[in-house]
Amino acid sequence: MAYRSLTIRGAKARALNGKRTSLNLNSKKLNSVPEFVSRFPNLSALLLCNNSITVLPTQLQSLQQLVELNLGNNALKEVPVVLSRLESLRKLYLYSNNIDVVPPDVIGRLRNLVVLNLNHNNIQRLPPEIGRLRKLQHLSVLDNKLEELPDEIGYLTELSEINLTFNELSWLPQQLYQCRELKTLHAARNRLTSLPEGITALSKLRVLDVAGNMLSMFPVGFHLLPLNELYCEGNGLVQCKPVPLLHNTEILSLKELVGRFVLLEDRKKFSLIHLILPLYPDLRNLLASSSCCSVCQGPFLTTWLECVHFISLKKDMNMRSLLTVPVRALLCSYSCFRSDGRSYYGVATK
Ligand SMILES: [Zn+2]
Repeated sequence: MAYRSLTIRGAKARALNGKRTSLNLNSKKLNSVPEFVSRFPNLSALLLCNNSITVLPTQLQSLQQLVELNLGNNALKEVPVVLSRLESLRKLYLYSNNIDVVPPDVIGRLRNLVVLNLNHNNIQRLPPEIGRLRKLQHLSVLDNKLEELPDEIGYLTELSEINLTFNELSWLPQQLYQCRELKTLHAARNRLTSLPEGITALSKLRVLDVAGNMLSMFPVGFHLLPLNELYCEGNGLVQCKPVPLLHNTEILSLKELVGRFVLLEDRKKFSLIHLILPLYPDLRNLLASSSCCSVCQGPFLTTWLECVHFISLKKDMNMRSLLTVPVRALLCSYSCFRSDGRSYYGVATK
């Protein structure tokens, strides 16, 4: 015990005497934050990890210069309220606590955060207010109980790395693709059955880890991503096993026929339909769910033929892996499906 208080006093003395602006109180068997800490208003880094801290005192709000706070491996039950007063924080580490709640009014005020680490807690949801952290570049929520991500994640336009591994996510919001700076996306060991369409928007993505999910294929255009690393083992990706095709007669509904006609006309800058379409918002909404044929590039309204093509990571994406993965493709007709020189496979459903 004598040694413990001596060490803390030593830390205090160094902070007082030197010009240092950081205080290292890691692994000091602390149950609470020592009172003297709040008397250093110039502190920019405060390291308190590997202790048994359960709450933070309100006096900590005097640390208005604090840039980095490490509270990893303590006994916090929620994100402490006093943090909402520390608006200069740029790096916040709260890993390995017992946190199950992230209060919206606390997290939403930390607008200067660049790094937020919430790994190894019991968090079920991130509040929409996370979208206010516009400077956030690294978000890590590894090993929690997240069931979904808020759509507001799309506001994090500086985000370059997100780690969602070991959660309970069954889907990802398409808004995640608005994070155009994203280079690393870890979403392994979740319950994802598909990745949202539009992934090509992540034009800087280098590392994608979706191992241990329930994916059957990758979204349209996946092979256009500039990936260096892909981890996808432990999914139920469709295999290339040819089965006889039952040939259906091609009969399109009137709605589909008209839809295709309108969509084609809408591509022409001076067509009457293109000019008057903005006057019919209901029709616009209906057409918004249309797709484009992977073979003839023609538009269609409802998915007509869902196929996959098999992409060689080495040959088609310049990666080191020898894997071949199925990538989703939508075709407009059997004639496109059967056209020469194409290698699309219909997906057999049991
Ligand atoms: Zn086609």
